[in-house]
Amino acid sequence: MLDLPLFETTESSHREVLDGLPSYTACVSDPPWSNLASMVRPPERVIAAWDTGIDHLESLIEAEGDSEYVVGIGGGSALDTAKFISWKTGKPLIQIPTIVSVDACFTRDIGIRVEGNVKYVGLIIPETVVVDIDLIRSAPGHLNRAGIGDILSCQTGLFDWKLASDRDEGVAWDNDLAALGYQLLDELTEHADEVAAVSEDAVRWLAWAYRRIGAACMQAGHSRFEEGSEHFLGYAYEFHTGDHQIHGELIAMCVVAASSLQGEGQSQATEIIARSKTRAHPADLGITRQAFDHAVLDLADYVRRQDLDFSMVDVCTIDSHVADQLWSAVTELPRQPSVG
Ligand SMILES: [Zn+2]
Repeated sequence: MLDLPLFETTESSHREVLDGLPSYTACVSDPPWSNLASMVRPPERVIAAWDTGIDHLESLIEAEGDSEYVVGIGGGSALDTAKFISWKTGKPLIQIPTIVSVDACFTRDIGIRVEGNVKYVGLIIPETVVVDIDLIRSAPGHLNRAGIGDILSCQTGLFDWKLASDRDEGVAWDNDLAALGYQLLDELTEHADEVAAVSEDAVRWLAWAYRRIGAACMQAGHSRFEEGSEHFLGYAYEFHTGDHQIHGELIAMCVVAASSLQGEGQSQATEIIARSKTRAHPADLGITRQAFDHAVLDLADYVRRQDLDFSMVDVCTIDSHVADQLWSAVTELPRQPSVG
């Protein structure tokens, strides 16, 4: 069993936490910030976080005043912006995720964009992560259901890690770490219907899952149990299109494509996505056949150019027949046209 270095986490109201702080800089997503702002102790500075490009983030540091805390309130961009400012200024960090589809609050790596690709530039640990169940549940449901993406990715991530370690490529297989990945997949199967309903239990479980994933990645120093060819395809897609998808929805679709490439697990992944009512059909995400094919057909080169980990992509030839096969796999997913 792993003894995980879990982040300090409290389940409480964001309002109580903010009211108890001295001065703070708030890095926010809007929505929901406009709905929250009038009801909380006002921050010294509000940064609307949408751009995690390095130049923009550096310019934020120059304008940073003398508030005592940095608080991230929102989704991935807000949490990563808050991490960057806390890291650069040395101010303590409090993270308040407003959706539970991002792991940024439970990882110490700071993900920013450099020339269109995500790079990790530094390490930071928050003083606490505040899980406000009511706040999270007030977000559009599909944003929380997207939380399954980075858990479902354990399926294809573990396959790729096993494949790589069997060939002595990259980090060695670790039974305890892999067991966490398999356990998360089992829990996902159990919670899929709750996730569809975005129940309190689903939100609490998703937060607990991300807390363990973040701690496990920190301890292992890599994320091979939950990141493989499905993420690489997602990165390649966003690189070619410049499109910013909801991460978990894109990754859920990419797990189905990657499992088809791997030749196992496609029906399990499809069933989990269907039961949890997660949006992942390309038509619901605005992903065209042409853009999908471009990412798929260039995937092997992209992986090489970016020096990504060894995976199924390195052991098969991805031609137009394979692209057809992967497209059929992802278009068999159920449509979820009505978001909410
Ligand atoms: Zn991810």
